[in-house]
Amino acid sequence: MKHGRWECDYTDVLVSREGRSSPPGASRREFLKTLAVVGAGAMVPASGLLAQNASRSARGKTGRVDVHSHPIPPSWQQVTRFGGGKGWAPSATIEQMEKYGIATSILSITTPGLWFGGPEGASKLSRECNEYMAKMVQDYPGRFGMFTAVPFPDQDATLHEIEYGYDTLKADGVGLLTSYDDKWLGDPDFVPAFEELNRRNAVVFVHVTGPNCCRNLVPGARATMSEYDFDTTRTVISMLVNGTFSRFPKIRFIFVHSGGTLPVMAGRIHDRFPKERLDRVPDGVLPELKRQYYEVAHATYGPPLAALTKFVPVSQMLFGTDYPAEPMETTVGPLESWGFSAKDMYAIDRGNAERLFPRLKA
Ligand SMILES: [Zn+2]
Repeated sequence: MKHGRWECDYTDVLVSREGRSSPPGASRREFLKTLAVVGAGAMVPASGLLAQNASRSARGKTGRVDVHSHPIPPSWQQVTRFGGGKGWAPSATIEQMEKYGIATSILSITTPGLWFGGPEGASKLSRECNEYMAKMVQDYPGRFGMFTAVPFPDQDATLHEIEYGYDTLKADGVGLLTSYDDKWLGDPDFVPAFEELNRRNAVVFVHVTGPNCCRNLVPGARATMSEYDFDTTRTVISMLVNGTFSRFPKIRFIFVHSGGTLPVMAGRIHDRFPKERLDRVPDGVLPELKRQYYEVAHATYGPPLAALTKFVPVSQMLFGTDYPAEPMETTVGPLESWGFSAKDMYAIDRGNAERLFPRLKA
């Protein structure tokens, strides 16, 4: 039933794209691409539109780039007892990528992360996960990238893994969680890693987690209902009051799920920012937040997308799915029915990711 509704929405998007098939400033290449999609839509029944569009663009340099995709390495699942993605295999992600027109997915390790078995266990698990992701990149040429997994509370080991990820595995960036043992990313303990990531002009993917403080605040509720999205805001506040954004300006941060609660709270964060720490945000609170990147998985419903599109320009938005934790259609369906122009849709789907990962353009 859901599927039928989304097919209907997708038809609406095609009609709206046809009406604006040459958006202001669109390149001739994008214009022709739009015409091709609309032309395909005119010739096939609605039930075949999604599949046809997907098969047209799932490979090569026009398909979507999914910056939020999780592998489930067997060794990691064994240690974490992660319950999501049962029966997952690399081929399952490829199958979904084909269905939804995704050319490349950038892999990252999801919550609960890697801090198991103390520093030694966490380093070992990080390396195993990185080797696993690198093998997927190698086994499916062009279809995957990877954010290096790091045992972040151990900064020395993290520096070692960052080096291995970039120099040996040719990773696309580094994956972090919003918090580690109730330390958020602006904590002074994490400065060594950010110094190195700034030196490397890194892309840092910041994934949500349930912080120790707040996992069981409401009896009967699950942290995944709200705490994940709040933890993005907590870590951003930590980075603002400690000057992480201004001190390490070359790092491009990606925050997930349309920024969680951040877009609706940014005004209050700005208004209540402690005066004694204003030197940590010399360019201002809002400009620092507006230059970061926001991925939209499982947060393309009307309210979160309305907040995000008022908060940042389309140039800062990235496509992602959070597969296999979330079914891809929960993101793709609402996103396609939002009514973005063809130019903006392409920027979110791929163009903005090409700026972050220039290898995708080659
Ligand atoms: Zn995720």
